[in-house]
Amino acid sequence: MEHTSQKMPLLFIGHGNPMNAISTNTFTDSLKGLGETLPKPTSILCISAHWMTEGVWVTHSARPKTIHDFYGFPQALFDVQYPAPGNPALAEGICKSVLAPRIHPDDEMWGLDHGTWSILRHMYPDANIPVIQLSLYISKPPEFHFALAQELKKLRTQGVLIVGSGNLVHNLALLNREPNPAPFDWAIEFDAWVKERIEKRDYTSLVNDALKTEAGRLSIPSFDHWLPLLYTLGASDENDELRFEYEGFDHSSISMRALSLR
Ligand code: ZN
Repeated sequence: MEHTSQKMPLLFIGHGNPMNAISTNTFTDSLKGLGETLPKPTSILCISAHWMTEGVWVTHSARPKTIHDFYGFPQALFDVQYPAPGNPALAEGICKSVLAPRIHPDDEMWGLDHGTWSILRHMYPDANIPVIQLSLYISKPPEFHFALAQELKKLRTQGVLIVGSGNLVHNLALLNREPNPAPFDWAIEFDAWVKERIEKRDYTSLVNDALKTEAGRLSIPSFDHWLPLLYTLGASDENDELRFEYEGFDHSSISMRALSLR
């Protein structure tokens, strides 16, 4: 893998169960494959479902801490460290170049949460590529996030890999913990609708209409795991090639669909 100045791809990854961080399965194999085949980024900007704030923040620490933002999982998951460096200069550049909304540098509040490291430790196990995270200004509507992503698009030509990490269908209240359960009909319906809208590059519907159906409301009980998709799509260009990198469902109510635009 060579450093490159070509326009970097964009990823949306459905990260699902935190245990994927320390598991090997078809999903984690797909992540490993992406890490091995994508052009090597100079830095990674991750928009994770798990950093929700008032205002927009970007991690600014040179050594972001590994955050274990979950409960009730085995000690082995709490033992994981992902010691990738940060990139304070990149964070400062983002704060300076995006004027609306204002983006604030964060040295205290956050680091890398499991939405980020549970996927990056499969993609880049050596943790030698700098990683920064951008927070979700969670009280803002979907169009705010899509518009902010358009401001971030220019990072692609600076070798930055932008990764949205959430899940297209994410209903923890209806999680089915039996082994390999079938997905709910509404989950299949909404996942298929999102796939088709993306194929048609109809991002306006994804921004405006996702909650207009019962399937959508069941799939998006809260915006946290949905909004990262809008960053991936908002930073894309019309002529980017779309690839679905992984698809499937976990626990009946989680879509693991992943995609790249390159
Ligand atoms: Zn999550």
